[in-house]
Amino acid sequence: MSTVKERLNKILATIPEGISLVAVSKFHPAERLQEAYDAGQRIFGESRPQEMAAKQASLPADIEWHMIGHLQTNKVKMIAPFVTLIASVDSDRLIAEIEKQAARYNRTIDILLEVHVADEESKSGWDYEELRQYLASGELSTMEHIRVRGVMTIATNTDDESVVRRDFARIRSIFEELKPSFGEAFDTLSIGMSDDYRIALEYGSTMVRIGTAIFGAREY
Ligand SMILES: *Cc1c(COP(=O)(O)O)cnc(C)c1O
Repeated sequence: MSTVKERLNKILATIPEGISLVAVSKFHPAERLQEAYDAGQRIFGESRPQEMAAKQASLPADIEWHMIGHLQTNKVKMIAPFVTLIASVDSDRLIAEIEKQAARYNRTIDILLEVHVADEESKSGWDYEELRQYLASGELSTMEHIRVRGVMTIATNTDDESVVRRDFARIRSIFEELKPSFGEAFDTLSIGMSDDYRIALEYGSTMVRIGTAIFGAREY
Protein backbone atom coordinates (compact mmCIF):
# COMPACT_ATOMS: atom_id res chain seq x y z
CA MET A 1 0.00 0.00 0.00
CA SER A 2 1.27 3.48 -0.81
CA THR A 3 2.03 5.99 1.91
CA VAL A 4 0.20 9.24 2.66
CA LYS A 5 3.18 11.10 1.21
CA GLU A 6 3.06 9.15 -2.06
CA ARG A 7 -0.67 9.64 -2.45
CA LEU A 8 -0.42 13.32 -1.59
CA ASN A 9 2.30 13.87 -4.18
CA LYS A 10 0.28 12.00 -6.78
CA ILE A 11 -2.69 14.30 -6.17
CA LEU A 12 -0.51 17.42 -6.17
CA ALA A 13 0.87 16.44 -9.58
CA THR A 14 -2.67 16.64 -11.00
CA ILE A 15 -3.57 20.02 -9.50
CA PRO A 16 -2.46 23.21 -11.25
CA GLU A 17 -0.32 25.77 -9.46
CA GLY A 18 -2.37 28.26 -7.46
CA ILE A 19 -5.19 25.86 -6.59
CA SER A 20 -5.49 25.21 -2.85
CA LEU A 21 -5.53 21.63 -1.67
CA VAL A 22 -7.43 20.98 1.54
CA ALA A 23 -6.37 17.59 2.91
CA VAL A 24 -9.60 16.26 4.42
CA SER A 25 -8.40 14.40 7.49
CA LYS A 26 -11.66 13.77 9.35
CA PHE A 27 -11.77 10.43 11.18
CA HIS A 28 -8.04 9.85 10.63
CA PRO A 29 -5.64 9.87 13.58
CA ALA A 30 -3.19 12.72 14.18
CA GLU A 31 -0.25 10.51 13.05
CA ARG A 32 -1.63 10.45 9.50
CA LEU A 33 -1.96 14.24 9.50
CA GLN A 34 1.62 14.51 10.73
CA GLU A 35 2.74 12.37 7.78
CA ALA A 36 1.00 14.73 5.37
CA TYR A 37 2.46 17.70 7.24
CA ASP A 38 5.97 16.25 6.97
CA ALA A 39 5.38 15.91 3.23
CA GLY A 40 4.64 19.65 3.10
CA GLN A 41 0.84 19.80 3.46
CA ARG A 42 -0.38 22.75 5.55
CA ILE A 43 -4.17 22.95 5.05
CA PHE A 44 -6.34 20.35 6.74
CA GLY A 45 -10.13 19.98 6.64
CA GLU A 46 -12.16 18.52 9.49
CA SER A 47 -15.89 18.03 9.94
CA ARG A 48 -16.30 17.81 13.72
CA PRO A 49 -15.33 20.67 16.05
CA GLN A 50 -14.22 18.49 18.94
CA GLU A 51 -12.00 16.34 16.74
CA MET A 52 -10.53 19.41 15.09
CA ALA A 53 -9.76 21.08 18.42
CA ALA A 54 -8.03 17.95 19.74
CA LYS A 55 -5.88 17.61 16.63
CA GLN A 56 -5.06 21.30 16.58
CA ALA A 57 -3.72 21.05 20.13
CA SER A 58 -1.39 18.18 19.25
CA LEU A 59 -0.10 19.19 15.81
CA PRO A 60 2.18 22.00 14.53
CA ALA A 61 0.95 25.56 15.02
CA ASP A 62 1.35 26.65 11.38
CA ILE A 63 -1.41 24.36 10.12
CA GLU A 64 -4.42 26.10 8.58
CA TRP A 65 -7.59 24.46 9.89
CA HIS A 66 -10.68 24.47 7.69
CA MET A 67 -14.08 23.45 9.06
CA ILE A 68 -15.88 21.72 6.19
CA GLY A 69 -18.71 19.90 7.97
CA HIS A 70 -22.07 21.16 9.15
CA LEU A 71 -21.43 23.38 12.15
CA GLN A 72 -23.88 23.87 15.01
CA THR A 73 -23.90 27.40 16.41
CA ASN A 74 -23.14 26.19 19.94
CA LYS A 75 -19.93 24.55 18.70
CA VAL A 76 -18.41 27.63 17.06
CA LYS A 77 -16.69 28.64 20.29
CA MET A 78 -14.65 25.41 20.31
CA ILE A 79 -12.82 26.33 17.12
CA ALA A 80 -13.04 30.14 17.08
CA PRO A 81 -9.61 30.68 18.70
CA PHE A 82 -7.72 29.04 15.85
CA VAL A 83 -9.86 28.10 12.82
CA THR A 84 -8.73 29.76 9.57
CA LEU A 85 -11.76 29.18 7.39
CA ILE A 86 -15.28 27.86 7.89
CA ALA A 87 -16.35 26.43 4.54
CA SER A 88 -19.80 25.22 5.53
CA VAL A 89 -21.61 28.43 6.45
CA ASP A 90 -25.27 27.85 5.75
CA SER A 91 -27.39 30.14 7.94
CA ASP A 92 -27.73 33.70 9.22
CA ARG A 93 -27.63 32.41 12.81
CA LEU A 94 -24.33 30.70 12.19
CA ILE A 95 -22.87 33.86 10.66
CA ALA A 96 -23.96 35.91 13.67
CA GLU A 97 -22.35 33.42 16.05
CA ILE A 98 -19.08 33.30 14.07
CA GLU A 99 -18.95 37.10 14.17
CA LYS A 100 -19.56 37.08 17.92
CA GLN A 101 -16.89 34.48 18.67
CA ALA A 102 -14.32 35.96 16.26
CA ALA A 103 -14.79 39.35 17.92
CA ARG A 104 -14.29 37.77 21.33
CA TYR A 105 -10.88 36.50 20.26
CA ASN A 106 -10.11 39.65 18.31
CA ARG A 107 -9.71 37.65 15.11
CA THR A 108 -11.00 37.66 11.57
CA ILE A 109 -12.42 34.34 10.41
CA ASP A 110 -12.70 33.57 6.71
CA ILE A 111 -15.92 31.92 5.57
CA LEU A 112 -17.37 30.32 2.48
CA LEU A 113 -21.09 30.40 1.83
CA GLU A 114 -22.25 26.84 1.25
CA VAL A 115 -24.95 26.75 -1.40
CA HIS A 116 -27.17 23.76 -2.05
CA VAL A 117 -27.23 22.77 -5.71
CA ALA A 118 -27.33 18.95 -5.52
CA ASP A 119 -30.34 16.73 -6.11
CA GLU A 120 -30.33 15.22 -2.63
CA GLU A 121 -32.50 16.99 -0.07
CA SER A 122 -30.13 15.75 2.61
CA LYS A 123 -27.25 17.92 1.45
CA SER A 124 -26.70 21.04 3.52
CA GLY A 125 -26.26 24.57 2.29
CA TRP A 126 -28.34 27.66 1.55
CA ASP A 127 -31.11 27.64 -0.92
CA TYR A 128 -29.74 30.26 -3.33
CA GLU A 129 -32.86 32.44 -3.21
CA GLU A 130 -32.73 32.54 0.58
CA LEU A 131 -29.06 33.41 0.47
CA ARG A 132 -29.79 36.29 -1.89
CA GLN A 133 -32.47 37.60 0.44
CA TYR A 134 -30.08 37.41 3.36
CA LEU A 135 -27.36 39.23 1.42
CA ALA A 136 -29.86 41.90 0.36
CA SER A 137 -30.66 42.58 4.03
CA GLY A 138 -27.18 44.08 4.40
CA GLU A 139 -26.66 42.31 7.72
CA LEU A 140 -23.43 40.67 6.58
CA SER A 141 -21.69 43.95 5.80
CA THR A 142 -21.95 44.97 9.47
CA MET A 143 -19.80 42.02 10.54
CA GLU A 144 -16.27 43.20 11.03
CA HIS A 145 -14.69 39.92 12.06
CA ILE A 146 -15.84 37.86 9.11
CA ARG A 147 -14.32 37.86 5.65
CA VAL A 148 -16.40 36.19 2.95
CA ARG A 149 -13.97 34.40 0.66
CA GLY A 150 -16.40 32.72 -1.74
CA VAL A 151 -18.74 29.77 -2.11
CA MET A 152 -18.64 26.03 -1.52
CA THR A 153 -20.81 23.13 -2.54
CA ILE A 154 -20.93 19.34 -2.60
CA ALA A 155 -22.12 17.96 -5.93
CA THR A 156 -24.77 15.27 -6.20
CA ASN A 157 -23.40 11.86 -5.23
CA THR A 158 -23.93 9.97 -8.51
CA ASP A 159 -22.12 8.04 -11.22
CA ASP A 160 -23.87 10.22 -13.78
CA GLU A 161 -21.15 12.68 -14.70
CA SER A 162 -23.58 14.97 -16.49
CA VAL A 163 -25.36 15.65 -13.18
CA VAL A 164 -22.06 16.47 -11.46
CA ARG A 165 -21.20 18.82 -14.32
CA ARG A 166 -24.61 20.50 -14.03
CA ASP A 167 -24.02 21.07 -10.30
CA PHE A 168 -20.55 22.53 -10.87
CA ALA A 169 -21.78 24.78 -13.69
CA ARG A 170 -24.53 26.05 -11.38
CA ILE A 171 -22.23 26.88 -8.46
CA ARG A 172 -19.76 28.49 -10.84
CA SER A 173 -22.47 30.83 -12.13
CA ILE A 174 -23.57 31.61 -8.55
CA PHE A 175 -19.94 32.42 -7.71
CA GLU A 176 -19.69 34.80 -10.69
CA GLU A 177 -23.05 36.37 -9.85
CA LEU A 178 -22.14 37.10 -6.22
CA LYS A 179 -18.58 38.21 -6.86
CA PRO A 180 -19.28 41.86 -7.76
CA SER A 181 -21.05 42.51 -4.44
CA PHE A 182 -17.99 41.49 -2.44
CA GLY A 183 -14.44 42.80 -2.40
CA GLU A 184 -11.27 41.35 -3.83
CA ALA A 185 -11.11 38.75 -1.06
CA PHE A 186 -14.04 36.92 -2.70
CA ASP A 187 -11.76 34.66 -4.73
CA THR A 188 -12.61 31.11 -3.69
CA LEU A 189 -14.73 28.55 -5.47
CA SER A 190 -14.46 25.42 -3.32
CA ILE A 191 -15.57 22.43 -5.36
CA GLY A 192 -14.17 18.97 -5.93
CA MET A 193 -13.56 15.91 -3.73
CA SER A 194 -11.64 12.67 -4.35
CA ASP A 195 -14.04 11.36 -6.99
CA ASP A 196 -14.88 14.56 -8.82
CA TYR A 197 -12.07 17.07 -8.35
CA ARG A 198 -10.74 16.65 -11.89
CA ILE A 199 -14.15 17.67 -13.22
CA ALA A 200 -14.35 20.50 -10.67
CA LEU A 201 -11.08 21.94 -11.96
CA GLU A 202 -12.67 22.25 -15.42
CA TYR A 203 -15.34 24.44 -13.82
CA GLY A 204 -12.88 26.83 -12.24
CA SER A 205 -12.39 25.32 -8.79
CA THR A 206 -9.81 27.28 -6.81
CA MET A 207 -9.92 24.98 -3.77
CA VAL A 208 -10.32 21.20 -3.82
CA ARG A 209 -11.14 19.18 -0.68
CA ILE A 210 -9.63 15.73 -0.89
CA GLY A 211 -9.77 13.04 1.79
CA THR A 212 -9.99 9.42 0.68
CA ALA A 213 -7.49 9.75 -2.17
CA ILE A 214 -4.87 10.97 0.33
CA PHE A 215 -5.63 9.15 3.59
CA GLY A 216 -7.54 6.09 2.37
CA ALA A 217 -11.02 5.02 3.43
CA ARG A 218 -12.46 6.41 6.66
CA GLU A 219 -13.55 4.14 9.49
CA TYR A 220 -16.68 5.64 10.99
C1 LIG B 1 -15.54 14.36 3.65
C2 LIG B 1 -15.63 15.57 2.80
C3 LIG B 1 -14.74 15.75 1.72
C4 LIG B 1 -13.72 14.72 1.27
O1 LIG B 1 -14.34 13.64 0.63
P1 LIG B 1 -13.46 12.49 -0.09
O2 LIG B 1 -14.44 11.84 -0.98
O3 LIG B 1 -12.96 11.61 1.00
O4 LIG B 1 -12.36 13.16 -0.84
C5 LIG B 1 -14.83 16.94 1.02
N1 LIG B 1 -15.72 17.91 1.35
C6 LIG B 1 -16.59 17.75 2.37
C7 LIG B 1 -17.54 18.85 2.68
C8 LIG B 1 -16.57 16.59 3.12
O5 LIG B 1 -17.44 16.46 4.14
